[in-house]
Order: sequence, then structure tokens, then C-alpha cells
Amino acid sequence: MSSREELQKKGLFLGTYVPYGYKRDPDDKYHLVIDEEVGTVVRSIFRWYAKDELSMREIAYKLNDLNIPCPTEQKRLRGEAYSYSGDKDKHIYLWSPSSIRGILTNPVYLGHVVQGRYKKNPEFPHKKLRPEDEWIIVKNKHTPIIDQDVFDFAKKRLEDNAYDLSSRNIINIYAGFLRCADCGYAMALYPNKEDRELAYICRTYLEKSKTACTRHYILESIINDGVLRAIRSHINALLSIEGIIKEIGGSQKIQNKIRRINTEIGSYEKMLEQAFLDRVTLIKDLYNGKTQKDVYDQRNIVHDSHIADLNCKLSALRQERELICYIVDAAYLYFQRFYNYDAIAKLSKNVLLDIVDTIFIHEDGNVEVIFSYKEDNEKLISFIERFL
Ligand SMILES: [Zn+2]
Repeated sequence: MSSREELQKKGLFLGTYVPYGYKRDPDDKYHLVIDEEVGTVVRSIFRWYAKDELSMREIAYKLNDLNIPCPTEQKRLRGEAYSYSGDKDKHIYLWSPSSIRGILTNPVYLGHVVQGRYKKNPEFPHKKLRPEDEWIIVKNKHTPIIDQDVFDFAKKRLEDNAYDLSSRNIINIYAGFLRCADCGYAMALYPNKEDRELAYICRTYLEKSKTACTRHYILESIINDGVLRAIRSHINALLSIEGIIKEIGGSQKIQNKIRRINTEIGSYEKMLEQAFLDRVTLIKDLYNGKTQKDVYDQRNIVHDSHIADLNCKLSALRQERELICYIVDAAYLYFQRFYNYDAIAKLSKNVLLDIVDTIFIHEDGNVEVIFSYKEDNEKLISFIERFL
């Protein structure tokens, strides 16, 4: 092992160029500190990609519109020596999707020193990127710019979009929603030719093993149809649930139930008041010497458990009353969320985010949609079972 490699394995930063977003520690040239001037740009790039779901191309456009110098230009502006390995045309100061990718995939932003990413190439100036498992990574050597979960989220999105969507200007609205019904893993975008319709395939089958799962190949148009159909039939189901709820809500039985709960709550509240008065009397008696301290203590214990018991009963009753009121008065908000899409003809990412949790793809091409707000649905069903 060369001594240079030894030092790299200790986590000393030996690179010629400091990664964008960091600068050399003035007190230790082998240590990195955040360059606040551009560290915020790194945070924005991750946020736009991982949270706002912009494509790498859109991010590059955005940064160029904002006149933010790209990493190469940043080095030049700071008077650092820099090499540029492409055509030396006037566009070198602009961000590109590949410079965005370079940032999104660099673990340096997690606080790790990452070296040996590139192999020297005899055909200079093109350096070759080594496979990730050959990089020399020493963890937690400087302050991170990005949280692990944001980094992971971006990584997952890069994998989902492995077939560079940004270059095709296509929005993959199903990213994050599709799962193989058999192995449960996320579906991968099928590496189609450019002019073909988007399609998906089980990621396990595509990337890991041909025996662990089957293809589950499906065209986007089939998913569209399946999801639209599922939304319609879900709305139909909700309409009939709502009809039953309304009937129960207006029925004598539920009105009697609410009246009975209110009466019970009233009587427990009176008992609680009485318990409080009893306690006051008890304290007075102790004060006047009518009651001995040990008798007082004993009665107090009985009192405490009596009061705790009453409070417990009261809170159960209030909860039940709340549930009934929710079902009768507020459940319409839950219904309305779905009714908004009653006449929907075309799906968008926002629609999916609003009402869809997961979409399972079956080998036979069946599209199974799990909707959000499952708990609301279960609450409604158990309410119907109880009061019908
Ligand atoms: Zn599978």
C-alpha cells in the first residue's frame, strides 16, 4: 500500500480539489469545513431533487437562471487551479444534469471523506469513475451538509429514475407508489427505447434474480386505467357507506345512544363533584380533630381510587361521544377528499399523493390500489357494524 493510500484510509483529505460546498480548514489543510457561501446551494439541490421532485435537468436550469456559478466556475472564481476535461467552450460555467448528479451521489456531504473515486486514465484528460465499492470512504470526518435520510431519499430517486428520465423530459408520476405484489419491492422503470411508452418491471427480477420473482411487466397506460377504475369503484363504495352513515346518524337508535351517553356523563360529573365535597369535609374534620390522621389516610386512599375510577369512566364516555359526533358530523371531509376526483379523467402526481398509498402490480396485470386514510375507512366500518 502506498503511503498516500494509507493516509487516505485514515481519513485525511489529500485531494487537489476541495468538493463543492466545503473548503479547507484554515488550521488543518487535511480537514474540510463547510463553505457557507455555497453549502446552501448543495442543500437546495438535495431538497429540490429529493423533496420537490425536480429533475436533474430542471435543477441545472434553475441554478443557471439564478446565475449561480457551477463548481468548475466556482474554483476559477476563487483563483484555484482547475482542469477542465471537456471542450473549452463558453458554456463551461453552466450547471449540467451530470454536475447535479455528481453532487447527489457524493457521500462527502454526509460528513465522510471520499477519495479514490477516479482512476487516472492514460488517455488524459478523461478520468474514469471507479465502481463505488472501490472508493476509499472514511466516515464522519467533518460536519455533514446533508442528513442521511435526505441523502437516502435522493439515492432512491436516482435508482428509480436510473433510465435517465430528465433527458427524455418525462414525468414519472408513479415513482414511489408501485410495488410488486409478489416480492413487495418497488417496481423499476423498464429500460425502454426512447420512443416507446413507459413501462415497469419487478426490480427483483430485473436486477437481482430471475428465480426470486417473475417479470410483472406492465405498461403505464394499463396502470392508468387500473388506478382510474379503482378510484371510481372506491368512490362508489364510499357513497354507499355515506348513505348508511346518514341513515344511522338520523336514526332513533343513534339519537337515543347520544342521549344516554349525555345522561351518563352528567351523572358521573355529579358524582365527581360530590367526591370533591367529601374530600373537603374530610380535610375539615382532620383540621378540627374530629378525625384521626390514620383514619384520614385510609379514607383518602379509598377516595383517590374512587375519583380515578370516575375520571376513567368519564373519559371513555366522552371519547365515544366524540367518535359518534365525528362519524355523524365530520366524516364528510373524508368522503369529500375522494369525491373531488369523481369525474377525473387523467392522473397526476398530486392526485396520487392526495389519495393513494400504494399500488400493487400483479403478475397477471391486475392493478391493486391501496388508498390513503385506511383508518378512517375502518373506523366507519366498525361504526356501522356497531350501530346498524
Ligand atoms: Zn417481484
